[in-house]
Order: sequence, then C-alpha cells, then structure tokens
Amino acid sequence: MPSYVIPDKCDGCKALDKTACQYICPNDLMVLNTETEKAYNRDVAMCWECYNCVKICPVDAIEVRGYADFVPLGATVSPMRGSDAIMWTVKFRNGMLKRFKFPIRTTPEGTAVPDGGWETGTEDLGDPTLFSEPGSLGMDAVVTI
Ligand code: SF4
Ligand code: SF4
Repeated sequence: MPSYVIPDKCDGCKALDKTACQYICPNDLMVLNTETEKAYNRDVAMCWECYNCVKICPVDAIEVRGYADFVPLGATVSPMRGSDAIMWTVKFRNGMLKRFKFPIRTTPEGTAVPDGGWETGTEDLGDPTLFSEPGSLGMDAVVTI
C-alpha cells in the first residue's frame, strides 16, 4: 500500500524550497501542490513502501499501510523517530497497542565519520573498487581478473 498524505495534517513544510518528503524519497515521488500547499505521491505504483517519508514528516502527515507479516488486516502502524531510536506503534483493530523500539545509530548525531576512518580509497568514480577498498577488505590491492 503506497504512501498517502493526510491533507488536513500536511502543512507543506511551511513553504520550504524542498519539503522533507521530497528530499527523502528515493524514488522522487513526493511533490508539493503549490496551490494547496499539500504534498502528494505522484505515482503510487512506483512506491516501494520504504517508510522514509513517513519517518521524516515533521507533522506525522504521511501513512503507509504496514506489511501483513507484522500488521494484520485492519491494524495501523506508525513510526516515531527519535535522535537514537524509532518507536513503532502497532494498533490492532481490537484496540490493542504494541510498541517496538529499535536503535537506529551507534554514534551520537553529527559524529559519524563518512569513510569509517579507512581513508584508503580512491575518489575516481570510474574505479571498480568501493571508496574504502582495498583497506576495508584487509588487502593491499583488490584482485582483478
Ligand atoms: S514532509 Fe509532511 S508536512 Fe512536509 S510536505 Fe511532506 S507530508 Fe507535508
Ligand atoms: S514510502 Fe518510500 S518510496 Fe514511497 S513515497 Fe515514501 S519515501 Fe517514496
């Protein structure tokens, strides 16, 4: 079930150049209707239900129906993003609530080292190795055929 923006909740990210949901969608699906100042999913068939837009929306205006393996028919699931964890709340159709908290990072915000400290790689995009290789593989050079 693709993402759905609840119009009454969406505030258009207060007219920023790019809304949070536009910024985060890996499929570039979210767009802002500049007349209504409401966002919407422009191609629901392309939505892979990754929940990124749901997690980033500052006013909880986006919903995605959860997969049946953890959200039975008639239930809803909503994530609440914190600085170090996400709390998932599942509300079953009989009213029962279950909450699951998962950590999302191992370092404080703003302290992650982009290259993991390897500093061994190349910045040549045409190079077949990944940025941290060959050091992160424990090798002096990547074997090539
Ligand atoms: S992130 Fe939320 S509030 Fe901002 S435009 Fe998208 S749906 Fe609306
Ligand atoms: S659920 Fe993922 S793919 Fe679908 S609109 Fe939101 S961010 Fe894009």
